[in-house]
Amino acid sequence: MSDLTRMSAAQLAAAIASGEASATEVTNAHLERIAAVDDRVHAFLHVDAEGARAAALDVDERRSAGEPLGPLAGVPVGVKDIVVTRGVPTTAGSKILEGWRPPYDATIVERMRAAGLVMLGKTNLDEFAMGSSTEYSAYGPTYNPWDLGRIPGGSGGGSAAALAAYEAPLTVGTDTGGSIRQPGAVTGTVGAKPTYGGTSRYGLVAFSSSLDTPGPCARTVEDAALLHAVLAGHDPRDSTSIPQPVPDVVGAARQGATGDLTGVRLGLVREFGGEGAEAGVTAAFRDGLDALTKLGAEVVEVSCPNFQYALPAYYLIAPSECSSNLARFDGVRYGLRVGDDGNRALEEVMSLTREAGFGPEVKRRVIIGTYALSSGYYDAYYGQAQKVRTLITRDFTAAFERVDVLVSPTTPFVAFPLGSRTSDPYQMYLADLYTIPVNLYGGPAISVPCGLSEGLPVGFQIMAPTLADDRMYRVAAALESAVGTLTPGELS
Ligand code: GLN
Repeated sequence: MSDLTRMSAAQLAAAIASGEASATEVTNAHLERIAAVDDRVHAFLHVDAEGARAAALDVDERRSAGEPLGPLAGVPVGVKDIVVTRGVPTTAGSKILEGWRPPYDATIVERMRAAGLVMLGKTNLDEFAMGSSTEYSAYGPTYNPWDLGRIPGGSGGGSAAALAAYEAPLTVGTDTGGSIRQPGAVTGTVGAKPTYGGTSRYGLVAFSSSLDTPGPCARTVEDAALLHAVLAGHDPRDSTSIPQPVPDVVGAARQGATGDLTGVRLGLVREFGGEGAEAGVTAAFRDGLDALTKLGAEVVEVSCPNFQYALPAYYLIAPSECSSNLARFDGVRYGLRVGDDGNRALEEVMSLTREAGFGPEVKRRVIIGTYALSSGYYDAYYGQAQKVRTLITRDFTAAFERVDVLVSPTTPFVAFPLGSRTSDPYQMYLADLYTIPVNLYGGPAISVPCGLSEGLPVGFQIMAPTLADDRMYRVAAALESAVGTLTPGELS
């Protein structure tokens, strides 16, 4: 049997179902790989070897007993450490949650367990998912398996790096402004943000509640679709969850893989054209576009004049919502407590705890958000940003009257060297120039590898109308069938 860590999730599931490999063997192979390489990659904050082996054994026993198994039964998965897991440490990449073991599972974790997926552990991220490089993790950065001197993207850099380093065939991320897609792009993997409300937020440590969307990360489009199908679906415990059936994303991915896009209209956003993408990124994106037109797709230029305001609007809305959500970390209810010596007032303990427990980017956003929401400034900042959000949504709606999907590079630049953008927050925010508009609108979007620039992966982004997640998988799988998947060199 070939190296189990190199196989896709679909191949592993088939091998387990046929008895060619046991879930236990598959799990052990990945735990061994983590033990061999994660000291260099640091994709994981916590490895739950015992829990993983128990879950794998359960699948093996159910298979022996002849019980029907789901399409991903026995396949290992890594989970971004902002998703709560019962009894398993959940830090959100922050010191303030160090040592917290949640008393419950997020809905998406419950669904994965019920489907027989085997959770290997929790993956690294920027603190509270705020960042684009995983350098803002309180536990140290993750390193890009393509070049250990470079960032793996963020905030879900751990989930993306775990895939590229063959530590897991599947991982889960969350995307508020690009944190699934941007790490996917810079690690040569696939990352999909479902329609907002298509996957449950129940049990995510909340960052920006009107934007947060959990979704699948994988090395192939089909694998991402298979995991998407497990994660998605209505959840009465999340008031913004959509009470509608999930589109057939797996069927769409398989249809796309046949390589026929006759009649599909791809919208090229004019306003993205002038903005500073690196030449090598633009070239690889153009190659991807050519590949899609050879499969029968048609390219139409569309104008989305309000996209230029997406970044500033996002950087008011997301910090505003985070300043409200993070108020729960008061030194009383969870994790860290500093200065509680019996003499200090509650406010003082709260302040000392936050001073010690939050990192600089989180503090920056809480301060910006508190300011933007304060009476007297609310209309000028938060209110204005919400109006811009409406205009951006209208741009999308108008564009989708003319085209089936919108396409762009996922990021303006390839993986940058560690430390090169941390001193200038604006340079870090620019990493999400192309990913943020669709978050403000709420539609689904995916990043698929489309080639290399200077030996580093470039991502191709496909955005679709809300609830048309299947459409983006079809185009993504077609692109993958034309350009193939990317494989990094061996970690030395
Ligand atoms: N990089 C963006 C930010 O820092 C997006 C984060 C995310 O999607 N979680 O807010």
